[in-house]
Amino acid sequence: MTTVNILGRLRIATEQVRKVQSSLAKDGPPDQVEILGKVGKELDGILYNLVDILSDDTRQSEINITSNDGQISKWLEQTFSSKPQRSTTAASRFESIKAVIQASSFVNALQRQVRQNAKERLSAVLDLPVDIYKLNLWSFNMMEYDEPFVFSILLIFDAHDIISRYHIDIETLKNFCRALTDGYQKYQTPYHNDFHGADVLQTTHCLLIKSSLMNVFTQIEIAALLFSAAIHDYEHPGLNNGYLVKTKNDLALIYNDFSVLENHHASSMFKLLRDKRCNIWSNMDTNEYRTFRSLVISLVLATDMANHASLIERMSTYFYFKETNSTTPSADSKTLLQTLLHAADISNATKPWSVYIQSAERIMEEFFIQGDLEKINYEDRKPTFDRESTDIVQLQIGFITHIVHPTFDVLSKVLLIDSLDYAQKESKATTNLSNYTLPWQYDLQLNLETWKQISRNGDLKKMIAKRKPLKLNYDYLQEYVEKAKTVLRKRSQHDLLLNCALSS
Ligand code: AMP
Ligand code: ZN
Repeated sequence: MTTVNILGRLRIATEQVRKVQSSLAKDGPPDQVEILGKVGKELDGILYNLVDILSDDTRQSEINITSNDGQISKWLEQTFSSKPQRSTTAASRFESIKAVIQASSFVNALQRQVRQNAKERLSAVLDLPVDIYKLNLWSFNMMEYDEPFVFSILLIFDAHDIISRYHIDIETLKNFCRALTDGYQKYQTPYHNDFHGADVLQTTHCLLIKSSLMNVFTQIEIAALLFSAAIHDYEHPGLNNGYLVKTKNDLALIYNDFSVLENHHASSMFKLLRDKRCNIWSNMDTNEYRTFRSLVISLVLATDMANHASLIERMSTYFYFKETNSTTPSADSKTLLQTLLHAADISNATKPWSVYIQSAERIMEEFFIQGDLEKINYEDRKPTFDRESTDIVQLQIGFITHIVHPTFDVLSKVLLIDSLDYAQKESKATTNLSNYTLPWQYDLQLNLETWKQISRNGDLKKMIAKRKPLKLNYDYLQEYVEKAKTVLRKRSQHDLLLNCALSS
């Protein structure tokens, strides 16, 4: 039983007690109502204490970015850490997580509303290849569809009422989607292209609808989050910040080596919005726009992976909430928004293997193109990403273990997700525990176990079908997915997690 599972069950038990209590409140026996009230309070207390204890665990297991392979260690450290300062006052900046947990009982109703609204609108009017139900699935594979921005932005913005709330003209929105696609395709990169942008948007949407946080954020925060997710890698050249700085690239000089790419994504996007034909926010109130722009900039800048360590630390501190609510909610929600976007950005490793492996292959190829350039142009004999010698298996194991796992671990504790499927089945009398499991838990474990199996028994030569451009042998790798499934099956949680993965 995972910790999040225990929390989820406890929270549901608490909600059920509260429900019975309020249904009896009018004309039920007063002594029983009183007892139920006490039980509810007690369960609440246990829930909060448990979250407290878990927060200690999270702090103790603070990110320790290392790998047996020195080269991979260096990459992990250089990319995902900026030697964060420990903040002793961080806890006081956070709003109590209680509000989040308490808000969750409204989520299911809201989720249904979102689905319903969206269903009745765009899919029927426009000829789109998918509907919002498909985009609600964690396992959705963006790479199967052409022009992914057009349908994902239209459907997701509509589902969150962004189009009607900000009076967005559909033609302008379509122009914007085309321009966004052009920007993402500018450098023909294997990974940082429109599929990745649309995928991060759809994953962020999933995180929102599957969590109680949708009630905590304001409309402008949700609009800023989803917009930032879509544009966060706009005009990505397929080279990382380290490379741009090292080679004194124009962008590095413009932004003085500080979050070079992220500054460029945000800045060039706002430049695009100066064009009336693409400015989807032209009807937004001036004050709101100011807040919106500032949020988008801070969210996109926070996608710099150098912020990973400090973001995880701040989220871990979040669990240090005490009984008080006397804190500033705005600082709090910004951190949450940044964490959601960061998690969505590295979520490929939490998707079903067949989806994840395509992303892994693409990002590795992008890394190798950079390595090729380092070798040719800068005579760097030992680039970080050498297509001849980089151990892809160890790199993925390191990435999942040190980056993805801690991120989703901390996020899981905050979200306490009710899956969409639970929302659907909620009205039924039977309660199936598998619905309380988070949608990424099974596949994250399976993907990691698969790489471990390959690392133990696999033949790396057979794994790579072609070195340039990198093509992995999917059929060969599939054997190890099956082996990993057998290993997981032996672990007690397998069926529970699998049920959840299948339904998400
Ligand atoms: P972004 O560049 O904004 O997409 O940030 C995500 C970063 O996470 C990428 O640039 C990579 O450094 C890293 N990343 C994401 N997925 C993978 C993966 N499957 N393997 C290795 N690194 C990854
Ligand atoms: Zn990204």
